[in-house]
Amino acid sequence: MAADKVPYAANPTNSRGRRFREPAPRGRSEYQRDRDRIIHSTAFRRLEYKTQVFVNHEGDLFRTRLTHSLEVAQIGRSVARHLRLDEDLTEAITLAHDLGHTPFGHTGQDALNASMKPYGGFEHNLQSLRVVDVLEQRYGAFDGLNLTFETREGILKHCALKNARTLGDVGERFIKRQRPGLEAQIANLADEIAYNNHDVDDGLRSGLLDMEQLSTVAIFRRHMRMVLREFPRIEGRRLVHETVRRMIDTLVTDLIRHSAANIRTLGPETVDDIRRAPPMIRFSERIQREQAELKRFLHTNLYRHYRVSRMSSKARRVITDLFQAFMAEPGLLPPEFQSRAQEDTPRAIADYIAGMTDRYAIVEHRRLFAIDVS
Ligand code: MG
Repeated sequence: MAADKVPYAANPTNSRGRRFREPAPRGRSEYQRDRDRIIHSTAFRRLEYKTQVFVNHEGDLFRTRLTHSLEVAQIGRSVARHLRLDEDLTEAITLAHDLGHTPFGHTGQDALNASMKPYGGFEHNLQSLRVVDVLEQRYGAFDGLNLTFETREGILKHCALKNARTLGDVGERFIKRQRPGLEAQIANLADEIAYNNHDVDDGLRSGLLDMEQLSTVAIFRRHMRMVLREFPRIEGRRLVHETVRRMIDTLVTDLIRHSAANIRTLGPETVDDIRRAPPMIRFSERIQREQAELKRFLHTNLYRHYRVSRMSSKARRVITDLFQAFMAEPGLLPPEFQSRAQEDTPRAIADYIAGMTDRYAIVEHRRLFAIDVS
């Protein structure tokens, strides 16, 4: 397998290494070990109960952050394999990319960021890195999962310059304005392919979107027509799925073709060439335009749908209330966070809240604010 990879693929035997030295893994590569540590982490299991768009208890069939992460990994691996890059590194990055997400999706992140504004803010990317570097407590010799530089760098998708300066090696590329390796670039776009498509699917399943509305969106309409030509009488869930699977196929195929063409044009020979060049993993112009249209549609019609807004509004209150209650009385924090709070109270509170699942946050809110606890 390794012999088939291109010379500018990440190479696990040339990794910039782990923060704490460890013996080389046996029977698996450094990046495969990273992936295995991520899957065995507590934060990874919590993703099952964290919201993507729909709050976890609203229905059993909607995507959660766990199934989202698995879809991203599957798409990312296909692209990496086709481009003969390191599939395992892409898999590790995709599985870890959302580990730092708060409960209640983007609303949760925005609410926690607003509460943390005076104390350095809160950013889920940075938090994903903090989970794998510090917060997971499972190993005798170190805090965190002690992942390789390349996986950690890929997890940190974007980062403000002032934060980058405090992050050492993984912050460097933001200061030098360089790119990460192609495996990390793939993870970003696999994320986008996964959420645009599963949000269409979940939006239809929930009844917040309908087919008529969606057929105003070019990329959806084009693929729905392809399905109807092939199966003139198809309807309901089958029509939705046949359309969505064709959209995913088009996006993945376009990404592979267009990226391969970029790579041919720019002719990188080493990973360092990739870092200095413009991003090479990209969609074609047409698909980029169509994706932007779909994104705008989802923003207007799904993410700002009044039923989603009601849930978001409640979620915002839960997060804000919890933060304020713990700030006023850090003694209410569980013991393991109290010791952390002695160094930096707001950050310890943010770590505690960010780690909560949707339902845990709701229960914790009830525990702190409901008077009639039986
Ligand atoms: Mg994601």
